Amino acid sequence: MGDVRMSDDCIFCSIVAGDIPARVVAETDDALAFLDANPMARGHTLVVPKGHHQRVADLSREESRAVFDLVHDLAPAIEDAVNADAHTIGVNDGPDAGQEVPHAHVHIIPRFERDGGGPIHVAAGERPEVDDDELDEIAASIGES
Ligand code: 5GP
Ligand code: ZN
Repeated sequence: MGDVRMSDDCIFCSIVAGDIPARVVAETDDALAFLDANPMARGHTLVVPKGHHQRVADLSREESRAVFDLVHDLAPAIEDAVNADAHTIGVNDGPDAGQEVPHAHVHIIPRFERDGGGPIHVAAGERPEVDDDELDEIAASIGES
């Protein structure tokens, strides 16, 4: 099992510990999935690592695999359960991206034809003007880090 440090004032740590109730839909050694209490759509599910980490990059390799494997395995089951047509799968990875609960979690949000929602692109704000040179520089600096 990965890092199991728990944060006393974290709501998702309390759910993992069983101290507050949640509608758990799946559990593995390192990850837990439960319904969002204030769903954006029927079947909206959160997948969390059992250890307390704020950001995706803070997860151990083991926990990262556990979380994303559970996302992979649950998506079709959720789609079947609520008769959805598609999913938006995403992470608000840090407060400036809209993260409110500081315990990393993946949202699986079932989507339905003509549900009035948009693609994940709308989350990022205004699209910047980026020329080919800058794209080359950005790609190189990501590769170097
Ligand atoms: P964030 O903005 O951090 O990505 O999303 C946090 C999500 O957690 C929200 O969708 C919110 O509805 C959900 N949430 C907050 N508190 C609780 C809770 O106590 N139980 C459950 N099941 N979901 C919660
Ligand atoms: Zn936590």
